[in-house]
Amino acid sequence: MYRFLQTVFLLLPLLTVGPVLLRAADAAWSDASHPAACAGEDVAFLQGELLTDWQCLRQAYPQVHCLRADAEGRLWLELADGRRVLYDGGLPFAAGQWDVDVRASMAQVYPLDPQRPSTPLGVSPGRRRSYDLLRMLYGSSAAAIRPRLRTGTFFGQAVRMEARALAALQRVEARLAPLVAGQPQLRAYLKSAGGFHWRGIAGENGRLSPHSFGIAIDLSPRKAPYWRWSRVFPHPLQASYPEAIVTAFEAEGFVWGGKWHEYDIMHFEFRPEILCKARTIPEASGAEGEVSSRDVPIQ
Ligand SMILES: [Zn+2]
Repeated sequence: MYRFLQTVFLLLPLLTVGPVLLRAADAAWSDASHPAACAGEDVAFLQGELLTDWQCLRQAYPQVHCLRADAEGRLWLELADGRRVLYDGGLPFAAGQWDVDVRASMAQVYPLDPQRPSTPLGVSPGRRRSYDLLRMLYGSSAAAIRPRLRTGTFFGQAVRMEARALAALQRVEARLAPLVAGQPQLRAYLKSAGGFHWRGIAGENGRLSPHSFGIAIDLSPRKAPYWRWSRVFPHPLQASYPEAIVTAFEAEGFVWGGKWHEYDIMHFEFRPEILCKARTIPEASGAEGEVSSRDVPIQ
């Protein structure tokens, strides 16, 4: 609640300048008395984490156009085509809630610390997702997503992914190729087990896997386990997995599931907003990540 009040406080100045920021074309669903920040306009009044989130979302997804408040004080992201998704509904989320608003999906700062100390219960930065945002960005059915898919190669293996994620994956290969040439043992970690696959997450009541949106790739599952299929907790590979691979993926906007408490060591997921925030708030990118005050699990 404190976080939400803080957000409202930070946006208060907009209540006076909001009408100036709104353009006639934007008034379709929000009347001019509600505050907004839009791309290409002065957003100096956004502060702190809200400003970081906005900048990282804009950088990660150029189609994100405005951040807008409604009459209830909720904040919405709006795309250039007018579609919108909830950024901040102002409510806390439960410990087991993985489908959240955009703000909650970014609340835990992803750690870039190469030492990789174990992540405590409740810390899985990047594992919470706004499925509304993913559906809006990529499509809400396999048929809707297919036109966005491309097939390319990753170390000689055919991989089918969403176009931007695939381009990022190929930049990961460019980073890794010289290292793999010198350390051929790394190849054992780079066997693709698939990119795009419209399916639910194993053991999670049909919640969609990010593979459904073509933004994730699994590598060498025989070597890199998933927490539900392993008796080891935490898994030693979370600390010993080759740093060069993790670093190359992170540099191109992928989160690694090995940094989640409920680990998924084979899993790399294109979430450039998460990596942008990790680099923007480096002091929070320590051993345990930054857990926002709003991020206290409720039972
Ligand atoms: Zn995966």
